[in-house]
This record gives sequence, structure tokens and C-alpha cells, in this order.
Amino acid sequence: VLGAKGSHLQSLKIEGIKDIIAVASGKGGVGKSTTAVNLAVSLAHKFQLKVGLLDADVYGPSIPTMMKLHGQPEVSADKKMIPIEEYGVKCMSMGSLVAEGEAIVWRGPMVMKALEQMTRGVDWGILDILVVDMPPGTGDAQISISQRLQLSGSLIVSTPQDVALIDARRGVRMFSKVNVPILGIVENMSYFKCPNCSEPHYIFGKGGARRTAHEMGLKFLGEIPLEMGIRSGSDEGVPVGISDPDSCTSQAYDDVAQKI
Ligand code: ADP
Repeated sequence: VLGAKGSHLQSLKIEGIKDIIAVASGKGGVGKSTTAVNLAVSLAHKFQLKVGLLDADVYGPSIPTMMKLHGQPEVSADKKMIPIEEYGVKCMSMGSLVAEGEAIVWRGPMVMKALEQMTRGVDWGILDILVVDMPPGTGDAQISISQRLQLSGSLIVSTPQDVALIDARRGVRMFSKVNVPILGIVENMSYFKCPNCSEPHYIFGKGGARRTAHEMGLKFLGEIPLEMGIRSGSDEGVPVGISDPDSCTSQAYDDVAQKI
């Protein structure tokens, strides 16, 4: 996106948006949304890009919490929703449209309709990049989203653990099937740096995602540590790139952003 703009990425999709990239994972709970948020913040702050963040995880939207979004999007004169802007990132999430805690029980076509509204029915303005937090998994919903949004590329998030990596491989295959270029694999929760002994502890195993990326001929985009600050930043709605932009953790996200 940054270095190779226009080279391996496909052409324009939604008017005004140069590139749409998906942040995906084969299974839930590996840190996909956390990665999407921190990446969006890094792209906006460190790389000074115009960034949007679409929460396509309609069944479990977490962006409103992670980005501390309040209220509902306003509607423009031409009946488009105006994304809620926080930390310089324009955000759109189903979580901002339904009451907190309300269960979303739609079937596939309704989900697609909602996503269509949340992309083309939104006044995004001019964006360099729209980061899409995908629903976890590799089913029909993910395939339709990938096709309808005409993604420029996708980024797969995985922990180093075997089971997560098996699902990550499935994700890679799904995107290949729908001809979406894979930008690479990000390893989340790579290690925990013990505050007492300063040694890294490889809680979920060491180097799993790097190996998998290598085996599959994909780019390895970097390691994100398992860190209290990342978790509390998500819960409090202040990403580390905002609370501590010069920390090693923020730098880890910047390195990922640099590589895509
Ligand atoms: P997913 O989108 O894959 O379901 P989330 O991004 O919601 O996963 O993350 C799941 C939980 O793990 C959240 O509570 C989040 O704060 C936490 N988390 C994610 N990545 C990290 C990390 N690198 N360090 C510490 N906590 C993390």
C-alpha cells in the first residue's frame, strides 16, 4: 500500500477510495480487530494517510469500543451516513447502528445488504486506504465480502499456535480462490516479555506464523507481542499508537504498516 502503491494492487473500487484492504483471520480471538485498529491508527498517524476503518464483523462488532466511538453516524443531505471520526480515522461499524448488547441475528443476504450500506452508503470522502475488519473465519460471508468490496489485498492475522495457523492457511486459500492478493501474515501474541526477567516467553510457541508464511510463499509482516498495554488500550478505546506512539509496541504496528 505504501511502498508498492498501484503495483500489485487492483484498481479502484468505491469512488474516492484508493485501496481497500481486509484484515482477516481463520478463527476468532486471535487479535484481528486489535490489529485492524492499530494498523489504521498507524497508517493515519505515522504515514499521514487518509484512512477509513470498516467494521465488517457485523455479528461481533468491537471497533466502537476499541476506537471509543460514541453516538450514531449523522446522515448527509444526499442521505449518506457520515462516518464517525476518531484519532484521525473515519469509522463505520454496525455496533454504532444498533443498541449496545443487542444481538444481530441476520442471515447472509441481510448481512451483505448492511455491508453494502456501510460501504457505498457512506460518505467516506477521499481515502487513501479503507481497512476492513473482516468477520472471523472463511465461510460464504467472507467470500461475498471479498468479492463485493473488490479488495486490493488482505492481511491474515494468526497467533503462533498450530490450530490458529491451520485456520490461517484456510484463510489464505479462500482469498486465493477469489483472486484477492495476500499481503502477508501478521503474527499476533508472538511472545510475552516478562517485566521481571525481561526475557521473551513464547507462550503460544515460537515462530509458527513466520514458518507458515515461508512455506506458503507469503510475506511475513511482523510480530506483535502479547502485551497488557495492547489489551487495555483496546478495552479503554485508546490504541497504543495514540497513548504511547514512540513505544516498541507502536513501532511493531508501524513496521507492519510499512510492509503492506
Ligand atoms: P479477534 O478480532 O481476532 O476476535 P480481538 O482483536 O477482539 O480478536 O482480540 C481478542 C482479545 O485479545 C481482546 O481482548 C484483545 O484486547 C486481546 N488482544 C489482542 N491482541 C493482543 C495482544 N497483542 N496483546 C494483548 N492482548 C491482545
